[in-house]
Amino acid sequence: MKPRVYIETFGCQMNVADSERAATGLRASGYDLCQSIDEADVVLLNTCSVREKAERKVYTRIGEVRAARPDKRDLLVGVMGCVAQLEGEAVFEHASSVNMVIGTRATDRIPVLIERAREGERRVLDLGERGEQDSWDVSPVERHSPHVAFIPIIEGCNKFCSFCIVPYSRGREKSRPASEIVAETRRLQALGYKEIHLIGQNVNSYRPRVEDGLEGFTGATPFCRLLRAVAATGLPRIKFTTSFPRDFHPDIVTALEENPNLCDWVHLPVQSGSDRILKLMRRGHKRSDYLERIQRIKNSSRRLALTSDIIVGFPGETDEDFHETVTLVQECEYDSLYIFKYSKRAGTPAAEFHDNVPETEKTARFLELEKVHRAAQEKIYRSYVGRKLSVLAERQSSRSESDLTGHSTCHKVVNFKGDNSLEGEIVDVVVTEAKTNSLYGSLV
Ligand code: SF4
Repeated sequence: MKPRVYIETFGCQMNVADSERAATGLRASGYDLCQSIDEADVVLLNTCSVREKAERKVYTRIGEVRAARPDKRDLLVGVMGCVAQLEGEAVFEHASSVNMVIGTRATDRIPVLIERAREGERRVLDLGERGEQDSWDVSPVERHSPHVAFIPIIEGCNKFCSFCIVPYSRGREKSRPASEIVAETRRLQALGYKEIHLIGQNVNSYRPRVEDGLEGFTGATPFCRLLRAVAATGLPRIKFTTSFPRDFHPDIVTALEENPNLCDWVHLPVQSGSDRILKLMRRGHKRSDYLERIQRIKNSSRRLALTSDIIVGFPGETDEDFHETVTLVQECEYDSLYIFKYSKRAGTPAAEFHDNVPETEKTARFLELEKVHRAAQEKIYRSYVGRKLSVLAERQSSRSESDLTGHSTCHKVVNFKGDNSLEGEIVDVVVTEAKTNSLYGSLV
């Protein structure tokens, strides 16, 4: 019987995409993938390090994995992803039962690393760079959904925001050749995928070494040209995330206006509304730069949904700074907003700053901002009642067997009555009710 590997994934879409690639490579090398620790010969934890709490959870999880299989002494446990890349050898010191530490750029080498561990090597470590010939291929059976696929277009980050660990865990920005991205889009289209997400820490910083595959496509930046090239494949729905404000060229909105299959949703994290805090965060943009981009999005001939991320209680944030964030949120009227209370992340420049905002104050700011945002969100969601939305029916709803759930082109969760035969179809739904974070409707 082939050895079986169980992969557990934490964190962002990039980790989901890496797990899909790891599974593809493992199956090609003669392994089977399984759905639980109980059946596994090898367990891989694909980890996230964006918050210190998430990192600590990895060590708890390693203990739980070992405890779940007390009988299986030869069970191999590997830590991959961002914690592996950042901690390296130290993972073995923290958790002596770990057999492999696999960095973020070693995904293609996982089968070889497992072989080394199976042959008895005690501490297998690979924090090396991605190989020139490494493959981005993902087999359809390993994708997280049969209808929606993630396509990484850029890895890593060069921005070095002072609170963020990503440039250290994921390395410098590296863009995939456009010809590969367009070819992958066409393959997914032929397989019947209805929606793709072009993903990366900063998709609009996309800068391939050679612009093969973008000939004949216009655009102010390589990302704008890529959007037009991907849209030209005709795949029904194309989304992209995450965008970085400084690199958000207005031509991105023009590309959306020209191509109906580029979906009407932009995620543009701002993090703070105060110039003083933005500077401490080393974001490389000011409030006014951000609002300029928002104006272009709001003035578009299409109604574009807008979402963002904000950190409250960053070291040094005064009441005045926070007030600037509140007024920015009022002005932007986000469809969705992810608010985080600042927490120190070891290894980042901000970890050296004096974290002088008390936890109670961070909570108070969080709640106040949430209230301000909710008021705008409720108004936006209510405005959809009576409107027709195009929804990709992704699966049966977990709440009701007679309901299907999916996302609109503006990336809202929409639930509606319908049977399983519609799964994977793009349907029109008239919204009948607005809930806090979702819409409810009826099939047209
Ligand atoms: S842009 Fe800033 S917040 Fe985003 S991944 Fe890069 S360093 Fe982190």
